[in-house]
Amino acid sequence: MKIDWKVWLHIAEDFLFPHRCVFCGKVISYGKYVCKDCKPAVIGADACRFCALPKKYCSCRKRARFYDEIAAVYLYDETVKPGVLHYKAGGDRRMAEYMAKRMAALAKRRGFTADAVAFVPQTKQERSRRGFYLNREIASLFAKEMSLPLYEGLVKLFDTHPQKEKGFLYRRGNVAGIFDVAVPQEVANRRFLLIDDIKTSGETLDECAKMLKLYDAQAVYALVFAAAFPKKQGKEKEKNRNSERAEMRRNLNSTGKNIV
Ligand SMILES: [Zn+2]
Ligand SMILES: [Zn+2]
Repeated sequence: MKIDWKVWLHIAEDFLFPHRCVFCGKVISYGKYVCKDCKPAVIGADACRFCALPKKYCSCRKRARFYDEIAAVYLYDETVKPGVLHYKAGGDRRMAEYMAKRMAALAKRRGFTADAVAFVPQTKQERSRRGFYLNREIASLFAKEMSLPLYEGLVKLFDTHPQKEKGFLYRRGNVAGIFDVAVPQEVANRRFLLIDDIKTSGETLDECAKMLKLYDAQAVYALVFAAAFPKKQGKEKEKNRNSERAEMRRNLNSTGKNIV
């Protein structure tokens, strides 16, 4: 049997530069992104279009936002988190390709039609701290997948503390007035797909959408790779963890008694 030289090339490439699962880092076969053991929670068609979360986690009460709709590929669960954090720290860049592909598939499924791709911007300082421009990298790959131009006119005026370090009530204040649009004429009457990697409260995306709408954008569809559980859910998880710990302690105590 004659094997195509391209297959040999892939075998050699696989050996020299093994492809890894974007979530857990396990070596996987060439061309794949996720191993068979990683099963992140995909957000289905029943998701709330105001907060992107599945109906059972939604507590937004359909609060109106500046973006017209929002969608997320995954829940930011224990499978997704390590992969995203690894990529953010400068790890496997194939995560950006994977994010772009999955987000593009979701945008098409949801019927988000737009004229350009925008992304949540970062300041120069934030970019140099990380060593690369994360959101731009994801958005430019996403724009290619969607065959749309990349819009780079959204600018962040000054540094802020990361949103995840802030309480819910402070998040809106933390991002208010920190974004602007470089050339307003480029925004008017255009529809945008606005990209970010993770949505926590959604305030950052909303503030960017507000700027685009202020300059007469026709529509803004927000798209993220993963949506974080709402705070309440976090508390519930913590409660579960505490009861698990108590259970373990009880088991250890009873084992101890048996030994004595
Ligand atoms: Zn994996
Ligand atoms: Zn909701």
